[in-house]
Amino acid sequence: MDLKDYVASIPGFPKEGIIFRDVTPMLQNAEAFKESVKQISDFAKDLNIDVVAGPEARGFLFGCPVAIELGAGFVPVRKPGKLPREVVSKSYDLEYGSNEIQMHKDAIKKGDRVLVVDDLLATGGTVEAAIDLIEEMGGIVAGVAFVIELKDLKAADRLKAKGYNVCSLLSY
Ligand code: 5GP
Repeated sequence: MDLKDYVASIPGFPKEGIIFRDVTPMLQNAEAFKESVKQISDFAKDLNIDVVAGPEARGFLFGCPVAIELGAGFVPVRKPGKLPREVVSKSYDLEYGSNEIQMHKDAIKKGDRVLVVDDLLATGGTVEAAIDLIEEMGGIVAGVAFVIELKDLKAADRLKAKGYNVCSLLSY
């Protein structure tokens, strides 16, 4: 099975000049969804993962089944104002403006081995902010996995250069 057959490419979404890579066909197809979760879980199976962290919202969709497959917990990485208890926050720069992510302050325990899972790696801003929060809480980022990597943006190279164990199932 070629998982690329289950990614729809949408030119001009959400704005002119961007090709949006849509993973909903992969979620919609039972075999493709199962295969994507299996491939990420296979990457992580020997990493002794305690917790999977997934950024809102598509990181939840792949991160949760991977967590169950690995026998790990799951923690959400969310946009500001969504989590009900005490949070830690991290801002990161965008081309224009900035974004912020939050996690519950008790989401990661010191020494937890964490796998970060998201659908797509673009500039790396989201995942690097998540990594910072996890490490500030005392977690060990044992792996970082994506369904799709946008290669030209070179974020995976940057993560690997910092010593992270990075997996992407597909690249564009
Ligand atoms: P980054 O922070 O690496 O620049 O952007 C990655 C985040 O934006 C991920 O959480 C991802 O869900 C979302 N994202 C950005 N572009 C796309 C895209 O083309 N397709 C999908 N599915 N998600 C995207």
